[in-house]
This record gives sequence, C-alpha cells and structure tokens, in this order.
Amino acid sequence: MLDLDHPMTQHIFAASGAKDRVLQRAKRMTLASSQQRLKMLEACGADLEKMRQLNREHFKASPFIFEAIDELEAALQTLAALKKGAIIEDKSNGEGHCPGCGTQITKFKTNSLSRAYFERTKHLQKEDENFMESMMPQPSDFEDRWHIYCDKCLDLIMPALGKLASPEGFCTDFI
Ligand SMILES: [Zn+2]
Repeated sequence: MLDLDHPMTQHIFAASGAKDRVLQRAKRMTLASSQQRLKMLEACGADLEKMRQLNREHFKASPFIFEAIDELEAALQTLAALKKGAIIEDKSNGEGHCPGCGTQITKFKTNSLSRAYFERTKHLQKEDENFMESMMPQPSDFEDRWHIYCDKCLDLIMPALGKLASPEGFCTDFI
C-alpha cells in the first residue's frame, strides 16, 4: 500500500500521470493516419521530458529509467512511422482492421469513475470529519469509456512502459 504522506509519493504520481498520457496517445496512434501520428508523437515529447526531469531530480538519475524512457521514445517513433509513414486511413471508430498491421481492432467499453470524480475529490483532506462520506462515489460519478486500439501495435511500447512501472523504474505499479 502506498504511503500518501511519503515524500516520494507525489513524484510517483507525477510519473504515473505522464506515463498514462503517453499510453492514451499511443492507443490513439495505433489507429490514426500517419500525419495524425506525427502530431501525437510530438505531443508525447513534453511527457517524455517530464519523466526525464523527474528522474534527474527525484529518482537519483537512474540509468535504468533513462534507458527505459529512450526505449519508449524509440517505440513511439516506430509506431508513428509504420507503413513508412504512408497510412492515410483513420480507424479511430474501431471498425475493421488495424491500418498498421491488419489485426482485428480491439474495442470494448468500461464503466468506471469519471475524471470529474477525481477533480471533485482531489482537494479533500483526510483530516476532515466528512472525508469518507465526501469520497464516496455517487452513481453520477461513473461514466462509460470506450477503449479502442490495436493490441498488436500497442505491444511496441509495452516493454518500455513495463520497465518504467516496475520497482526498478518509477514504481508506479504500486499505486
Ligand atoms: Zn496494428
């Protein structure tokens, strides 16, 4: 269980946020046109830089983490350049097959806590006497979310993400 008062906790959360944003963009990249992929790759740059900065300042400049970030960046570039950058189709609606590798697209829906819930609750203080009650999710705090991506193409980035999440990395597996 993660200790919320531990000084490293906020840095692990920051790393986790950057990693998740990259993962979400990578999922969209698997179904986008080559032109869109390049835009999303560029958007990942700030999060990769954020991870490097966190590593320098709070994770003792771990060589393991730097290498995993480089590996992630290279994998994102590979994902962006599939089919030699000539993908014109956009399969973001999840119908049919992956424009990069031809695999059947993965598409499913989950019902989970909304971003609005986390926004609503993130400033609550544990010390407040109504803390538990205020944290309790209401039915309106849940929302449907579609997950649409090519599982096989996404595998390109998973080894690097796994390293970053591991105890040797940012340790985000334990959040
Ligand atoms: Zn694919």
